[in-house]
Amino acid sequence: MLEDLYREVIIDHSKHPRHLRELADATHRATGYNPLCGDSIQVWLLLQNDEVRDATFKASGCAISVASASMMCDELSGKNLSEARALAESFRKALVEGNEQDLGSLEALRGVREYPMRVKCATLPWHTMLAALNGQGAATTE
Ligand code: ZN
Repeated sequence: MLEDLYREVIIDHSKHPRHLRELADATHRATGYNPLCGDSIQVWLLLQNDEVRDATFKASGCAISVASASMMCDELSGKNLSEARALAESFRKALVEGNEQDLGSLEALRGVREYPMRVKCATLPWHTMLAALNGQGAATTE
């Protein structure tokens, strides 16, 4: 069952988040807040020559927001800026607009679309990452 597999991927990332640390030599950082659920997150990025060399986060939030942040940081390393922005846009379109474009290893999060209250939990880390790239210190899902 694909849905069970996806659920397990999300649970695994929420219980054992990857990249869960402060990044001392970060070049970009931002904090994000989702008042709907109470999720808060900090994202750190290390960029070199327009490429994301490392991405980390710390969060106080629900399982969906933590899993999404963990999977996002997995995906970002090695991507250049335009690829990172394009991925964030694809992810947003899939969850908010129902766009069916393939999300690769982020597919597990597509099912969140069926729970409108949780969509902002899943998109919060991405809003925060974009705020960091744009030189804004903070993001909110409002
Ligand atoms: Zn949440």
